[in-house]
Amino acid sequence: MKTEFILTAAQAVNDAILAHEPEIESLDREIGDGDHFVNMKRGCATILGMHDELAPLSADATLQKIGMKLLSTIGGASGPLIASFFMAMAKAEKEQQADALPQIAAAFAAGVEAIKMRGKADVGEKTMLDVLIPVARKFTEMANAGAAPAEVFAALKETAEQGMLSTRDMIATKGRAAFLGERAIGHIDPGAKTSQVIIHTICDLASSR
Ligand code: ADP
Ligand code: MG
Ligand code: MG
Repeated sequence: MKTEFILTAAQAVNDAILAHEPEIESLDREIGDGDHFVNMKRGCATILGMHDELAPLSADATLQKIGMKLLSTIGGASGPLIASFFMAMAKAEKEQQADALPQIAAAFAAGVEAIKMRGKADVGEKTMLDVLIPVARKFTEMANAGAAPAEVFAALKETAEQGMLSTRDMIATKGRAAFLGERAIGHIDPGAKTSQVIIHTICDLASSR
């Protein structure tokens, strides 16, 4: 992984999150407490504000610093989850130091695994993991099979879209939406939506390189 890619991706993700403000806002207002957009916006601004400090660092040090900083800036349920994603990615990146797709997929999968552990959640609980787990599986499977990058990124966008849409008909068993029981049915999970937007953005960026 390259630090330059991480920083370019952070800028692109920031722009994409801002562009989806009304949708993300209203999803968390419907089945949460309405702050998910603000939490994500703050997280993105924090990373962008670290640009000059991060630019000279290795990718693993960059991911680690981002994780630690997000832990104290995002807050909510999503803050510690996203922070643990970055810190686990950092650890995997440090151990393998490679820029090929199978290693990037492995680092991503390690990040998603950390969210599962920290959130004590899995697929089917109406959270960001309904996007992240299938994407991590697909990424690992296709990268290890030697699929062409363009094919991999297109498939990941598709997988993320399906995962996001799958949360609509679920009852939440984790997070604030769990208090709603059946009333959460019919609403897409906000964290699943932002995860899908982020994956879409990074896949587009990666395919254009
Ligand atoms: P909060 O719920 O504390 O206000 P946010 O609104 O920023 O925090 O984030 C809510 C999102 O976090 C949910 O939409 C869901 O995707 C995700 N989430 C909540 N709890 C968990 C969990 N235990 N595991 C994984 N993701 C979770
Ligand atoms: Mg919220
Ligand atoms: Mg909150």
